[in-house]
Amino acid sequence: MSGMKQNPPLECDVLVAGGGVAGLMAAIAAADRGAKVIVAEKANSKRSGSGATGNDHFLCYIPEVHGEDPSEFIQEMESSQIGGNNDMDLVRRYVDECFDRVKDWDAWGVGMREHGDWEFNGHAKPGHLKVWLKYAGREQKPIFTREALKRGVTILNHHPFAEVITGEDGTVAGGICVDLTEEIPKMQVIRAKSVVLATGNVNRLFGSRTMGWMFNMAGCPSDVCTGRAAAYRAGARLVNLDMTGMGAGCKYFNRGGKATWIGVYSDIEGKPLGPFVTKPSKEYGDLAGDVWREMFTLKNSQGEPVFMNCSEIQDEDLDYMLWGLTNEGNVATMDHLKEEGFDFKKHMVEFDAKDGGSLGGGIDIDINAGCTVPGLYAAGDETGNFRADMGGAATFGHIAGVSAAEYSQGKENRNAEQMPAAAEWLEKHSQILERPADNSCPSWKELNVAVQQVMSDYCGPYVRSEHMMQTGLTHLKRLQKQVERMCAKNSHEFMRCIEVEDMFLMGELAFYSAMERKETRGRHRRVDYPFTNSLLNQKFVTIEKSDKGPSVGWRDKHK
Ligand SMILES: Cc1cc2nc3c(=O)[nH]c(=O)nc-3n(C[C@H](O)[C@H](O)[C@H](O)COP(=O)(O)OP(=O)(O)OC[C@H]3O[C@@H](n4cnc5c(N)ncnc54)[C@H](O)[C@@H]3O)c2cc1C
Repeated sequence: MSGMKQNPPLECDVLVAGGGVAGLMAAIAAADRGAKVIVAEKANSKRSGSGATGNDHFLCYIPEVHGEDPSEFIQEMESSQIGGNNDMDLVRRYVDECFDRVKDWDAWGVGMREHGDWEFNGHAKPGHLKVWLKYAGREQKPIFTREALKRGVTILNHHPFAEVITGEDGTVAGGICVDLTEEIPKMQVIRAKSVVLATGNVNRLFGSRTMGWMFNMAGCPSDVCTGRAAAYRAGARLVNLDMTGMGAGCKYFNRGGKATWIGVYSDIEGKPLGPFVTKPSKEYGDLAGDVWREMFTLKNSQGEPVFMNCSEIQDEDLDYMLWGLTNEGNVATMDHLKEEGFDFKKHMVEFDAKDGGSLGGGIDIDINAGCTVPGLYAAGDETGNFRADMGGAATFGHIAGVSAAEYSQGKENRNAEQMPAAAEWLEKHSQILERPADNSCPSWKELNVAVQQVMSDYCGPYVRSEHMMQTGLTHLKRLQKQVERMCAKNSHEFMRCIEVEDMFLMGELAFYSAMERKETRGRHRRVDYPFTNSLLNQKFVTIEKSDKGPSVGWRDKHK
């Protein structure tokens, strides 16, 4: 096979990479401001991303519920599982605007108040303000897709975004996507005045708990880090890549949604393990799974499994929990339990930490969702200095769309397809299709497993040290050379190959960032620096491209 074919270039004002919640919210907001918008989505926007089959908690400040002064809400938000690494100016903007997005969703038909009024339950500490609005999100993605199409947005499904194209002046001129709609992939350049990156989280860089099943992930396994990698290559700053996360949930069924369970984390005798609740509580859930992930590894190392114990749940709360879990993308788990004759009143469900870790950071954005490259914006799980999960995707997705549309006004499209970045990408990636697809070249799968192994073992959330990371980085760099030898027989394999390329880059940047932070903080556990250095409080590790390679630095967290 020779060279990769190209489609004629397309053109728009705002190109959105990723048709998840943040991407569709950006597209809708930009189209509402008169912009011509194209969304490039890897899968199908109707059922893609971490919100594909629903979510049921939206972090939301409502003055009539929480009081006119948001400070207690902000305190609760920042001490929750999503807090800690958020710039406070972004937090304040979020708090100002999140209820408007909830009202939009309500008007579009997402079940934001299925039981009458605004209802706050789960992820909560007894006696504290409840900040998570309970909603029924099972149909959210088809609804957002409908709203985008209604506004004239073009959605290119099966078109993963691969690269940002910038002009000689360093501003955004468009993007490179891959048309996967046929057996053999084609390059698709899209001229654009601005680009919004919204490709979600980093979900396949670290290994799954079920090693043979690498797509068995807590979040969407298609979200691998492309937005972050493309932003870095385009010159944007990334932040907090030294931080890691770790999910918790039903053992071997790696799905998000732990806060929807109405039960008590217990040992095999049914004795509660955390300090928060002793009986199933619809109001609070059991916060132990949110804030004490080490519970699983610690208890397992003591020879003790950990269970979610719902045995004392009231009948109506059980119905409420099952309703919540089916809106929360946990239908397959529920079906399985039913098939196995599971009885919530009699049996406990074993829970576990879900994976070998995940990356805590991402793209550094300003208060308008702008990156450090003019014309480039990012929102949702993609960002490294603000996190509010679904609410964050909705609110900053909207902000990114507004900002990108405003930036694009009065600008002209340029011939992005004739810029050097396009030619370089084509030449490099054509080779993936030209190499012999036999056993002489590594497949994407071998290299995906290899990068996961290295990241989980040497840069994960359990043990880090200079020597471990030096050794891991050496392995990673050695294996990275094999990326230049990958081959693909068809569109599907080609897509996986470019994912792997991005994962190796992101792994490398995570190693450099983690080596820079010489202290222990959260799940960045340095056994060689076992203390938390208060001089580094409120300081973020940054990384960006320089002539000499990745350049690591520090910046203050915004007050
Ligand atoms: C089961 C589950 C339950 C959850 N429950 C909650 C909850 O109740 N409350 C809450 O706040 N959060 C919840 N979360 C987290 C929440 O779903 C995410 O924070 C949210 O979906 C992030 O939105 P996003 O648009 O940034 O990313 P996503 O919704 O993941 O969207 C990313 C999109 O980008 C696409 N994509 C990836 N790579 C590319 C590429 N290269 N080119 C083009 N497209 C690409 C993906 O296909 C996807 O459509 C849950 C997550 C899971 C998995």
